[in-house]
Amino acid sequence: MSQSWPALVLRASAVDGSEDLVSAVLTDFNPVAIQDLAERPLPPGGLWDPTYPPIPDPPPTPLHWSVCFSDPGERDRAGRAIALALPLMKIERVDLPDEDWAARSQQSLKAVRAGAFIIAPPWDLPPPAAHGVDATVIVIEPSMGFGTGHHATTRMCLRLLSALDVADATVLDLGTGSGVLSMAAALMGARRVTGVDVDQDAIDSAESSARLNTLPDSITFVVSDFRKAPPAPADIVLANLTGGMLTSSAADIAALVRPHGRLILSGFDHTEVGCVLASFASFPERQRLSEDNWIALELHRRG
Ligand code: SAH
Repeated sequence: MSQSWPALVLRASAVDGSEDLVSAVLTDFNPVAIQDLAERPLPPGGLWDPTYPPIPDPPPTPLHWSVCFSDPGERDRAGRAIALALPLMKIERVDLPDEDWAARSQQSLKAVRAGAFIIAPPWDLPPPAAHGVDATVIVIEPSMGFGTGHHATTRMCLRLLSALDVADATVLDLGTGSGVLSMAAALMGARRVTGVDVDQDAIDSAESSARLNTLPDSITFVVSDFRKAPPAPADIVLANLTGGMLTSSAADIAALVRPHGRLILSGFDHTEVGCVLASFASFPERQRLSEDNWIALELHRRG
């Protein structure tokens, strides 16, 4: 298919609150996608970590967005409205090839199998006969929370979790995103599951997806930074974060794993696994999975 999207590429050369103003103007239109093209600095060592350096508010980088619309008329009207509101904004009208957008478009997401689970968007619920005797369906509404099952790291965490004895265990899900790992643990019979995320939008999306499933009341979602407000330690700790965050927060995470507990880590690749393992040196490795160059580890805390 060689369709393209009518789009605006917007650039502001100075930090002047233009992000808020552009967002406000765009609410009168119906952009189908907004992509932030601004470059963010990498921390020393090059491990990408969303929390380092802390992104100041307003962000240091000038605005650089591409905004796609469903039709050229709306794109042009939005362009004129932005030009009126922000005379210094550089506005370019372009036609973006649709390959990437179509691939990322949420409506194209299908149910996926991972470990004992099928993660399904509401529009692709598998018929009961397709589940197989051992598969449990988790419905996730793709939205602000990462974790639709379409990323290898989420799937590998689910595979590792599926092989653990979760019944009656306490479970912590650090960076719960869509809540998918917490829901899986609750459905496996965990005694108490706490999904923590620093992002209110992620917790809102986890709570709305939780309502689409029939879950035991052992599950709770909390908006919090686990490094600043440590939750109670648990028997199984899941942390699908980033290599940078896992290494810089290793001591905080390790303290949350109870003696003899398990730690499932992901969100890093082959180049980072050495650093991650070194940061959890006192936790012997039990399992390692790899998919699309991503790694997931199951570590064990000694008694
Ligand atoms: N657990 C899901 C989502 C992983 S994405 C899955 O496996 O698919 C990582 C999530 O961690 C994001 O939603 C991000 O907001 C959250 N996060 C990052 N740093 C955090 C912190 N310090 N405390 C709590 N959540 C954090």
